[in-house]
Amino acid sequence: MKRREFLYTAAVAATAAALPSCGDRRPEGKLYTSRSGNARMKLTWFPYELQLRHTFTVATYSRTTTPGVQVRLEYDGLTGYGEASMPPYLGQSVESVTAFLGKVDLSRFRDPFQMEEILTYVDSISPGDTAAKAAVDIALHDLVGKMLGAPWYRIWGFNPDKAPDTTFTIGIDTPEVVKEKTLECAGKFNILKIKVGTPHDREMIEAIRQVTSLPLAVDANQGWKDRQEALDEIFWLKENGVVMVEQPMAKERLDDNAWITERSPLPVFADEAVQRLADVPGLKGAYDGINIKLMKCTGMREARKMVDYARASGMKVMVGCMTETSCAVSAAAQLSPAVDFADLDGNLLISNDLFEGVKVRKGKLFLPDRPGIGLIEKKMAPKPGKSTI
Ligand SMILES: [Mg+2]
Repeated sequence: MKRREFLYTAAVAATAAALPSCGDRRPEGKLYTSRSGNARMKLTWFPYELQLRHTFTVATYSRTTTPGVQVRLEYDGLTGYGEASMPPYLGQSVESVTAFLGKVDLSRFRDPFQMEEILTYVDSISPGDTAAKAAVDIALHDLVGKMLGAPWYRIWGFNPDKAPDTTFTIGIDTPEVVKEKTLECAGKFNILKIKVGTPHDREMIEAIRQVTSLPLAVDANQGWKDRQEALDEIFWLKENGVVMVEQPMAKERLDDNAWITERSPLPVFADEAVQRLADVPGLKGAYDGINIKLMKCTGMREARKMVDYARASGMKVMVGCMTETSCAVSAAAQLSPAVDFADLDGNLLISNDLFEGVKVRKGKLFLPDRPGIGLIEKKMAPKPGKSTI
């Protein structure tokens, strides 16, 4: 290229780059068109056990691993990633999840955009199996987001700058261990979540207060047995910098939880008491807010509906997770700009994450600007075992 031609080309390019990208100068948005013209959705899966960095203890159990199943949904050269995580109290297992996935027949749907129809069908296969349903839901959202070329927070109209701080969870342990764990993470997070619900709660909080003044959330996991004692505890916790309380008493004791909520100086959130959208109306008045988790509520579609319902009812919203890879955590994080509290640390608690996705920067969730749920697969996963077409 001669010098004059080069200068001309460079000038045109510079002018084009400087032009405002307002509506009438942009090409019309191109709708997704199938590359092959005859594409079909293909669902595959394989078990993947999550290794915890530390033994995890809450009021009712301890564990070092969490069973999980990874799901892939392929269509027209694109792959959507999904995941089921099955902590024991959820009552689901690798066997139940893979048995459920074996019943999913997506051949009846030509088009992944028919999300409502597809996910209503998936939900109709059995009454439970919420984690297995969430795995399909997440994979379908990831796939459709990729087909649209946009992340879900953008499709939903949320501002990623509004993504909140995430809590980081510290399990029940001796005051020395709790203090050590707090020191490890205090510089990286702006709010910590402490598991309580044993007779040693105050010792733990006092140990934490020796090393940090960060605000704390507490989760009793239904561990408190007497409502007056629970309320006294909540007043004491408020004096010690706690800002919210999760599931004070057994979910079945709705009246006792409502009694506490009415008198509590801190907002009280339902967790074990809320699974799905249909549970939310019954909790209004008994709790100030709900903790939404994809593995309980069948995935992103229903989670979004729960956020909207709770907001319309004047309830607060929190989004949480199980021990999960960055797949399910990044899926839940798409909702985070719309919530009051985020507890999305499940991927940080494991040592064998398969993905890079949502990040935590200075304690705040940072949503990747990538389509779907924004994942990059870190390494080759084991070959998928079974599939339906
Ligand atoms: Mg909880």
